[in-house]
Amino acid sequence: MRIHWLPCRKRAPACKKFVMPSSVMLFCRSTKGPSFFNLIVVKMLKQGREEVRIMETQTMQTSPSTQIVNVGGFDIGGPNFTVIAGPCSIESQAQFMETASGVKAAGAHLLRGGIWKMRTSPTAFQGLGANSFDMVRTVCKELNMSLVSEVTDVRQIEEVYDIVECFQVGSRSMQNYELLKELGRQKKPVLLKRGLAAYIDEWIKASEYVTKMGNQNVILCERGIRTFETATRNTLDLNAVAYAKKNTHLPVIVDPSHAVGIRALVPDLAYAAAAVGADGIIVEVHPRPAEALSDGMQALTLNDFSVMMKKLDRILTAIDRPLHKAHKAEVYV
Ligand code: PEP
Ligand code: MN
Repeated sequence: MRIHWLPCRKRAPACKKFVMPSSVMLFCRSTKGPSFFNLIVVKMLKQGREEVRIMETQTMQTSPSTQIVNVGGFDIGGPNFTVIAGPCSIESQAQFMETASGVKAAGAHLLRGGIWKMRTSPTAFQGLGANSFDMVRTVCKELNMSLVSEVTDVRQIEEVYDIVECFQVGSRSMQNYELLKELGRQKKPVLLKRGLAAYIDEWIKASEYVTKMGNQNVILCERGIRTFETATRNTLDLNAVAYAKKNTHLPVIVDPSHAVGIRALVPDLAYAAAAVGADGIIVEVHPRPAEALSDGMQALTLNDFSVMMKKLDRILTAIDRPLHKAHKAEVYV
């Protein structure tokens, strides 16, 4: 790494650790680092002794992705890749248990499963709501897994606080700022999906609604955007993943299921997500997709999921970004 020392008269931002009596502040521009001016270095000259301290900048524009968000015992945004899998909607205890145990056996780390669904048509299945709470309790307890699930309204946060480990904000709710602010007051992590026609900048600013209220545990999720193309459900914007990784401090994951909407293509996009540097994926799985009450077209079968996980493992090993080794049960028991 070559370093360019650029003298600068600006004050150090939020430097709480020490004062700089006779210090010289320098910007350090790394030729290898992920972003221009990604570090600020304070060089202190004390009685002939030179001390260099490195502080990460806090600004959205210049800091690389560094935040680690722990969900149910798994660090998202660290060296390992996280897989969240499960059905689009929780439909019954049997369906949720079958899916959850299948994805766990194939190596998923966390469960997904919709309790309340944001459907385009009001006549489409809206989710079991409160009727699924006991199913979630049973399945999560029996498998020792944690659930990521969407809240569509501020009132739901309290209702599911003890059964949902990470609150998902759906694409259609990305600009529900009151919901974001309320989630910002919570102690649990938030998975923020990108709006289906949102600029990257709007998505990042939406994340700031949460972080500004005090909750720093935000994971960005690219789930495909609307483009002129209609052959696939949406268009996975891999640019956005690379951009968000380099220009925010937050972990970024990909939802290949909603991005492409076609089962046979979901694994390929999951591999692309891994290669572009995403911190994980959230993927829809159903034991019998033809019977699914929502998003059956894009649901992987349990076998598809298992095949995908094996190839994903090989790709991640090749790029030195391995899957979390073991399930929580094995790690923490
Ligand atoms: C979902 O995760 O099932 C979902 C509705 O996703 P999105 O908000 O991205 O459409
Ligand atoms: Mn879905």
